[in-house]
Amino acid sequence: MTEAASSIPTHTKAWYYSQHGSPDVLKLDPNWPLPELKDDQVLIKVVAASLNPIDYKRMNGLYKDYDPHLPTVPGFDVAGVVVSVGREVHKLKVGDEVYGDINEEGVTNLKALGTLSEYTIAEERLLAIKPPNLSFVEAAAIPAALETAYEGLERAQFSAGKSILVVGGAGGVGHFVIQLAKHLYGASKIAATSSTGKLELLRKLGADWAIDYTKENIEDITEKFDVVYDTIGEPDRALKAVKEGGKAVTIIPPGLPPAIFFVLTSKGSILDKLRPYFESGIVKPLLDPKTPVPFSHLVEAYSYLETSRAIGKVVVYPI
Ligand code: NDP
Repeated sequence: MTEAASSIPTHTKAWYYSQHGSPDVLKLDPNWPLPELKDDQVLIKVVAASLNPIDYKRMNGLYKDYDPHLPTVPGFDVAGVVVSVGREVHKLKVGDEVYGDINEEGVTNLKALGTLSEYTIAEERLLAIKPPNLSFVEAAAIPAALETAYEGLERAQFSAGKSILVVGGAGGVGHFVIQLAKHLYGASKIAATSSTGKLELLRKLGADWAIDYTKENIEDITEKFDVVYDTIGEPDRALKAVKEGGKAVTIIPPGLPPAIFFVLTSKGSILDKLRPYFESGIVKPLLDPKTPVPFSHLVEAYSYLETSRAIGKVVVYPI
């Protein structure tokens, strides 16, 4: 065995759960066996991982019909360093700093080994090279939420000169929807909702109109929008705020036609496409004040995310 091969780990420290439930089911395993690398995969030394609501929904057993694997290491988003590559990996090499959402399909074919682990594994096509100006914490905050924001705007055929209402503008997905609508697409007007304390934040992100949902109902607003992007799971109300001929997008199952519902397909190519916006600092991940959360505090971090009060992204670092 070469020196390089012998330094490739066979086991990893990882958080896992072997029964469904609240974040208290999480346990730390110092010696989780790493699966063999497939030809199109890379092994990553995880530096930072961000949390997504899908993690606690999956942990609660919401997707158990499609996701029977137990025990499971949670975590979709990673930023880290490539330590080994499969035979069919052509672009990435050992030492590359990468980031991405390691689950290609949002709720099916999920990996048993997630990113809340010292090492994780992902297909090359799900990853992108980390822009050097982003820290690992910032990079880990981006993949799933940004790709969801982008895929929803694309599915709604959002384009320059259109108006948008972002329902839930301060969350992981919403804060990227606002920024992409403004800087990538050239929205004519961006409205977004939050509770009272986050209205100024919505304006800083690029909203022209910050709506306090504790005081105003979106369906009662006389102005209607070309696109309404619902990140909170109220498509019935979102549909009432859409202009005739406009579109509503919702990302919480089961959706409500004619609102467009989709489940994210993770693609490193979206991160590559949007790279100039991160390099220039025009689009930025918003980090929750609790970020970075130490690896040892994962249970508390998921419990906090589960309150649905997080601002932007919660990132675990260092791992
Ligand atoms: P977050 O946990 O980051 O969202 C938290 C934010 O939501 C808070 O800042 C909160 O602001 C805001 N919020 C909560 N309730 C409301 C409300 N009634 N009106 C306005 N804002 C509200 O979640 P994410 O953004 O990461 O994800 C949002 C949802 O989308 C989750 O359910 C997630 O599972 C789903 N999702 C689906 C995907 C798909 O592929 N279909 C992909 C990604 C996410 P405040 O405190 O001001 O209320």
